[in-house]
Amino acid sequence: MTDLLLTGIGRLTTNAGDTVADAVVMIVDGEITYAGTSSGAPDQGRADRVDCEGRAVIPGFVDAHTHVVFAGDRADEFGLKMQGASYADIAGLGGGIVSTVAATRAAGEDELFQEAAARVRRMIESGTTTIEIKSGYGLDLGTEMALLRVARRVGDELPVTVKTTFLGAHALPPEYRDDRKGYLDLVVEEMLPAAAPLADYCDVFVEEGAFSVDEALRVFEAAADLGMGARVHAEQLTHSGGAALAAGIGAVSADHLDHVTVDDAGALAEAGVVAVLVPGASYTLRSPQAPGPMLLDQGMTVALATDCNPGTSYLESMSMVMSLAVVQMGLSIDQAIHAATRGGALSLQMPDHGLLSPGSAGDLVIIDAPSAAHIPYRPATNLVWKTIKAGRVVAGIGH
Ligand SMILES: [Zn+2]
Repeated sequence: MTDLLLTGIGRLTTNAGDTVADAVVMIVDGEITYAGTSSGAPDQGRADRVDCEGRAVIPGFVDAHTHVVFAGDRADEFGLKMQGASYADIAGLGGGIVSTVAATRAAGEDELFQEAAARVRRMIESGTTTIEIKSGYGLDLGTEMALLRVARRVGDELPVTVKTTFLGAHALPPEYRDDRKGYLDLVVEEMLPAAAPLADYCDVFVEEGAFSVDEALRVFEAAADLGMGARVHAEQLTHSGGAALAAGIGAVSADHLDHVTVDDAGALAEAGVVAVLVPGASYTLRSPQAPGPMLLDQGMTVALATDCNPGTSYLESMSMVMSLAVVQMGLSIDQAIHAATRGGALSLQMPDHGLLSPGSAGDLVIIDAPSAAHIPYRPATNLVWKTIKAGRVVAGIGH
């Protein structure tokens, strides 16, 4: 592996201290060996060089919540929803998650991979170097396992680190409409043991109309017996008790949290649960954003993610997520940068990612602007000049 030296960095965000002006980063064998002022840089040897010409550098984005493996799309449904169609109207027309499940079950595994890989390539071009991918559009044993295999293959074949999450308890599949217990038996007794070698985490959608706290607890206890940590879709559309559940079981993350209370936040902070916020979903649903500043005040670590999915947040760009977090949620620019990089890494238990300091992963983004503030300030423009994964330029201008 060739060593890489970045010179002429106008502003360097390391997440390990203050922003550094006139900086240099050295990456050897995929790991950072130096990140700091140019005057303090060690001998640079025969590394490949990239002159950043005054551009800003931040750690690579860590997108900690996606459903990026699916087939089909719901563009027609989006148009209807924007014109005021209700959830019931959409369901009556055969839309909603059930339509994505049908398209996903009908697609071959290779087709699922090709579709997901196209989306993930765009994510990499937008500066993402690590993503979490959930199953949850199969809702039967064979398709759920296919989704997890495809997610792992994305990480094997593309220059991105992938963490996988089993989300069999995403929705009740149509064939189990009148047999909730039968479906949960299937999830716990057959899907979870099969998923354990393919999934790093287990997730449950805790919500009115999805799964109750008691149902989720049963799934999470079985997952814990198999060594899988918990991520929880909690308090998205209503206050349903998902946050208290996440705190009680010591989940790794509680995600969405639009309806979280101050008491919930205190319990989550105490339990060390990371808040993974997905402002793209609230934006598409035209609902108020999660209270990110309050969660930070209560001592939680906050991560940002795209929630990339075909129904409520077909978003691939972490830059757009950062813009929503700053403009609509009220995070400061520095808080949003940290949440989109270091926060995501912590939520995925990757302490050497989302950080640019000696020993951490050589994953970073060169922004085509003098400071990272331009990311939220100029939404919908991809300001990524180059994405660097493990010390290699994998996307961007001149790639
Ligand atoms: Zn989600």
